[in-house]
Amino acid sequence: MQFNDILGQDVLKKELIKQANSSRLHHAHMFVGKMGFGTLAVALAFVQYLFCENKNENDSCGECPQCKKVGTLNHPDVHYTFPTFKDKQKSEELIPSFRNMVSEKKAIFDTNDWLSEHKEKNLKIRNVEIQEILNTFNTYSLEGGFRVQVIWMVEMLEKEINKILKILEEPNPDSLFILVAQSTDFILPTVLSRCNIHKLKKHQNETLSHYIQEIEPGISENKLRPILTFADGDQIAALRYLDDMEQEDSIENTVLSFLRGTVNFEKRPSKNINELIETALFVANQKREYQILFLEHLNHFFSELVVFKFTQTSTAQENYQKALQYFSAQVEVDQIEFAQQEIDKIYSIVDTPALSKFYFISLALKLCKAMSRKEFLIHHKYL
Ligand SMILES: [Zn+2]
Repeated sequence: MQFNDILGQDVLKKELIKQANSSRLHHAHMFVGKMGFGTLAVALAFVQYLFCENKNENDSCGECPQCKKVGTLNHPDVHYTFPTFKDKQKSEELIPSFRNMVSEKKAIFDTNDWLSEHKEKNLKIRNVEIQEILNTFNTYSLEGGFRVQVIWMVEMLEKEINKILKILEEPNPDSLFILVAQSTDFILPTVLSRCNIHKLKKHQNETLSHYIQEIEPGISENKLRPILTFADGDQIAALRYLDDMEQEDSIENTVLSFLRGTVNFEKRPSKNINELIETALFVANQKREYQILFLEHLNHFFSELVVFKFTQTSTAQENYQKALQYFSAQVEVDQIEFAQQEIDKIYSIVDTPALSKFYFISLALKLCKAMSRKEFLIHHKYL
């Protein structure tokens, strides 16, 4: 991975190169940000730059033996630890799959991709990794340079394994920690304080727009705008939205059917209810990644609705505009907040391979009540 392979993040790339070339390189680096901002990719490019034998002031060479080994995740002095799926399962077992994913997706992937690839659930960095990580730092480097331990999704460490982070307090010379996290919320302050933290910024719309136009030359402005709004600077979200648009049965249409079903709940027109239940069952029968996207799109619709209520403008796709106009006249902000809370509740438990129909029907009925002012007020009165 070279810096040049990664979208944007120019300021951070420059800063990392400066640090790599300084005589006092910090021994622990933490890269923080959504994976769609390029967080893992930047961390890997940094490691490659450190090892490169022919680096210049902008990037590693990509050609020397060190670059080749680091770039294919085959360097004997660079160790990778990441979340696995089963108790006592070591990263080592899954390294071929991790290598493939880094290579195919240019390190732009997140835990959803990782779970989907393996059709698994229950992600954690297991306690059994402790000894592996200690070994990394207790042995001499094989090629005479740095010994590097990369930990992807460090916030997913099981409790016990936090012990190994004690090494951060007494680093060996020439050993480097490269920690990669989506957020620092669950990381101990004592760990954070010992790391040089690099925060990745979300991509600018202009950057993402160029990127999408390269993948989809000639894409219309009408199609591009909602992608950028949905993605909110996240490359992975942009790609997912783009993929979805190309499907005949797009998630946007499913979201619209779902929303149509919540209309006029108190009068209970059977056509609407049927459509709602059918849609809920349809989503419940899809794979986990579809369900997550559906929930993201649904949540996004309600965020757009809040904006629309106050500004009467929206960057949403044309087929969303009518729904925005309709719901904007029907619901108040407190109802929207309630709807989003209900969506978030389901979102936070999507750790099973696929959610059952119970969750989606229950969500459907809650949204019905949330979208009707009368039902909403009754519901809250008795809460
Ligand atoms: Zn090189």
